[in-house]
Amino acid sequence: MKYDYIIVGAGLFGATFANLAKKDGKKVLVIDRRGHIAGNIYTEEVEGIQVHRYGAHIFHTDYKDVWDYVNSFVEFNRYTNSPIARIGDEVYNMPFNMNTFSKIWNDVFTPVDALRHIEEEKKEIDHEPTNLEEQAISLVGRTIYEKLIKGYTEKQWNRSCTELPSFIIKRLPVRLTYDNNYFNDRYQGIPIGGYTKLVEKMLEGIEVKLDTNYFDNIDEYKKIANKIVYTGPIDEYFNYSLGELDWRSLRFDTKILDEVNHQGNAVVNYTGHEVDYTRVIEHKHFEFDTTSPKTVVTYEYPADYEKGMEKYYTVNDDKNNELANKYRELASKEENVIFGGRLAEYKYYDMDDVIKSAFEIYKNN
Ligand code: FAD
Ligand code: UDP
Repeated sequence: MKYDYIIVGAGLFGATFANLAKKDGKKVLVIDRRGHIAGNIYTEEVEGIQVHRYGAHIFHTDYKDVWDYVNSFVEFNRYTNSPIARIGDEVYNMPFNMNTFSKIWNDVFTPVDALRHIEEEKKEIDHEPTNLEEQAISLVGRTIYEKLIKGYTEKQWNRSCTELPSFIIKRLPVRLTYDNNYFNDRYQGIPIGGYTKLVEKMLEGIEVKLDTNYFDNIDEYKKIANKIVYTGPIDEYFNYSLGELDWRSLRFDTKILDEVNHQGNAVVNYTGHEVDYTRVIEHKHFEFDTTSPKTVVTYEYPADYEKGMEKYYTVNDDKNNELANKYRELASKEENVIFGGRLAEYKYYDMDDVIKSAFEIYKNN
């Protein structure tokens, strides 16, 4: 056999798997149907600024082995995600913390004051929350729900909050401290020089073919490799034989502005219905050393997925979870094919979990 592994997809899962195999002396080929490596964490330099082409990516993890692993390729900066939320002409700190509470209620100075308001407002939910609206109100009360959650969530999912499952909101921290850090993880940062550089280093010394679709040559690939590592969509692998899995998509509108500093923060959430976008990203604020006299901003519009668009968020309702399970069943019977990553597992995966999962899957193969 010419290769031990042919890896379909040069995203973070494929790159991690390829890197581990190469270190073990295996013969590896990575192919990707896009014209670039790095999958959805791809960054590209524009006006001296690293632009996150498929949405803003902040690396955060509690896994020391994953943090040490990524730091062995590139240095990370000290970026800490602290989004701002705008509704009408008001501005709040995210995630929900004492800065948010003291601005929402003007008699809040201490955690006890904040709790008094939250406890009072959450009384309207006198049972276990059954949907996202009830979950949100029982976490932070109706005032915050209506200003900072309802509009954002309805734009993001194109459904009413009373029809959405409560788990979506559960990963948003609620803190009784004046701490604007969006994540609770121990380690956080952005690779200096961008994510593409990180993946380039991971793939150093490995043969990579871009603009190459696995489905154009399946038989040939199976002939020349012991194993295929597939990181594309699981339903596509099986030619949608059981039906198509649903996704939410996004549309990005990116502009170069003749300004040094447009919004003063990397991430500004727009939580009301007065605009259709959910976030505006100003990429230079992910870095600290840009001297660019210009700035690059991206407006992020949630979109219903249609054929030809990028797949971003899984839709984890019963129908899709059941269908994904049926495809997983088929996948488990495929000989010499390993399925991994967000598309092949139909799973919302943070970057550190993707790397962790590639560690595990590689070890077991
Ligand atoms: P991908 O990056 O999608 O890679 C799969 C690759 O396979 C693609 O390059 C694709 O072209 C290729 N491929 C598919 N089919 C074929 C085929 N038939 N032939 C050849 N190639 C093929 N995570 C965080 O930790 N922090 C964040 O801040 C964060 N922000 C996010 C923001 C958004 C908007 C989204 C949607 C996700 C975010 N994530 C974040 C998650 C992160 O993007 C994923 O964890 C990561 O990109 C998954 O990597 P992957 O290799 O599984 O998939
Ligand atoms: N969310 C919200 N208001 C905000 C930001 C997030 O209500 O300003 C909710 C929304 O329901 C969203 C969920 O929290 O779908 C998760 O958001 P997060 O930013 O953690 O995830 P991402 O969209 O970046 O994957």
